[in-house]
Amino acid sequence: MSKIKLEEFLKNYPLYKAFKIVENYRAQKPSYNQPYAFVGETFMHYCETEQAEKTFELELPSSAENWWGNYDGDRIPDVLFDLEENLNFVEHFLGRCKSCKNYKIELTLHVWSDNKIPKTRFYNLSGSPGSINKNDFEGINANIFIEKIGILPEQTIIIDSEIKKHFDRETNNWYFKANKCIQQNYGIGAFAYFRRIIEKELLTIVKEISELDMADSQISKLYDQYSSTNQVYSIYENIFEFLPKSLQSLGINPIKTLYNQTSEGLHSLSEQDCLARATSIDLLLKFVIKKINEEQSEILKVKEAIKNLR
Ligand SMILES: [Zn+2]
Repeated sequence: MSKIKLEEFLKNYPLYKAFKIVENYRAQKPSYNQPYAFVGETFMHYCETEQAEKTFELELPSSAENWWGNYDGDRIPDVLFDLEENLNFVEHFLGRCKSCKNYKIELTLHVWSDNKIPKTRFYNLSGSPGSINKNDFEGINANIFIEKIGILPEQTIIIDSEIKKHFDRETNNWYFKANKCIQQNYGIGAFAYFRRIIEKELLTIVKEISELDMADSQISKLYDQYSSTNQVYSIYENIFEFLPKSLQSLGINPIKTLYNQTSEGLHSLSEQDCLARATSIDLLLKFVIKKINEEQSEILKVKEAIKNLR
């Protein structure tokens, strides 16, 4: 059983998003089956004292350290199991900045298995005498999961400055809330906010693209056509071949893809579907806006350069 690094989970996972830490549990080596096992795990986090990303280390508060210190080390304490004999516990941890050794965050973690596991800390299914009843566990495949259920202070949401500059106050407010929802694992909420953003901003984005010097003048024609007919879909459908190369580079029509997200009913999608879509919309939206910004600033630079050649 290989040890999975918790770093990615500790750094990036939002609240209530499960991460599988042990697949097919076999406790022949130390593994994540009790609170002590998490002490010493490291991850990157923002240190408020030093105003920078630093390495943090998980530790138990001293009361918990004393408490768990009193348990027999060869057994996983009974209190960490539920009635089905599945591992199932919540533990409070501190994450301390290893650089200043002073700033710390609080993390509450929930750890559980999806099947019963033996209560001996180490065991061997070949059955050394006095360990566990082999028949009780043979053929049972248990995985261990972890999720964050609390973090203090709350993880700050940092909005990309290019995005912030691009949108007005109202859209930025929705964009912040969409990201907040992603962080809290509220998929339906995040998806709904992104749909609002697309509904409001997509035509503006098309207009901005049509105004780029590198864009085909056909986009302006499409836009004018829309203005007279109000047939919004035809713009999104037909825009691809006239987009600047940088916006064609994905091989899909990013504008149509974004538009399509607003047409499907929210009711047919689960919380997790919505979360996955919201995260993807965010990436695509950022890509489009950055490409527009790049094209704009590229043109400005070239124009400046040409001035010097006159
Ligand atoms: Zn620090």
